[in-house]
Amino acid sequence: MTIVHVKDPNGKPYAPTSIERATECASKGRGAILFDSDGRIWLELACAPPPSEPPPKSPPSSWRKKRIIRLRERDGDHCFYCLRLMTHEQMTLEHLLSRRLKASDSLENLVLAHRVCNENAGHLSIAEKVRIREQRLIDLLMNHAPQQRLRVLKELRIPVPTAKKNKSPPKPKKTHHPTAITQGAYLQS
Ligand SMILES: [Zn+2]
Repeated sequence: MTIVHVKDPNGKPYAPTSIERATECASKGRGAILFDSDGRIWLELACAPPPSEPPPKSPPSSWRKKRIIRLRERDGDHCFYCLRLMTHEQMTLEHLLSRRLKASDSLENLVLAHRVCNENAGHLSIAEKVRIREQRLIDLLMNHAPQQRLRVLKELRIPVPTAKKNKSPPKPKKTHHPTAITQGAYLQS
């Protein structure tokens, strides 16, 4: 491949290119092909190329760390999908409404999940994501003895309504009304 050196009108050098690319560039009026005294081929650009745009920024790790701390406080250390305990290193931020849909990065749209669980659910709707969790929760509860289920729910930060004290209906006052006697006699018979 014939190397073509590249420079802008001010003589500032750029990465070399191929003769094909340089010819194409020159044919479009974006530069001129020159030969220097050493026989080297140059593409002198018609104007300096614009500075390359910086790559899109991914959220800084400090932002991610803060989000994880807040989510652990809110939801605990269990994966949203498989409900298993995660180590800090295993935690990834899962967007319930996908980022592809330009969803928010706010806490309301975030949960913690294993990377694998996160990726497996990536294409699903919110309803389907919740269903995976519900299914897993049912399996989990079925695998625990009834007396352990409350503990499981508590660990998962799922509020359990406290059972209302069963108020027994007031007992009818004992009367000596003839009807009561009759009724009593009927019940005893
Ligand atoms: Zn998981």
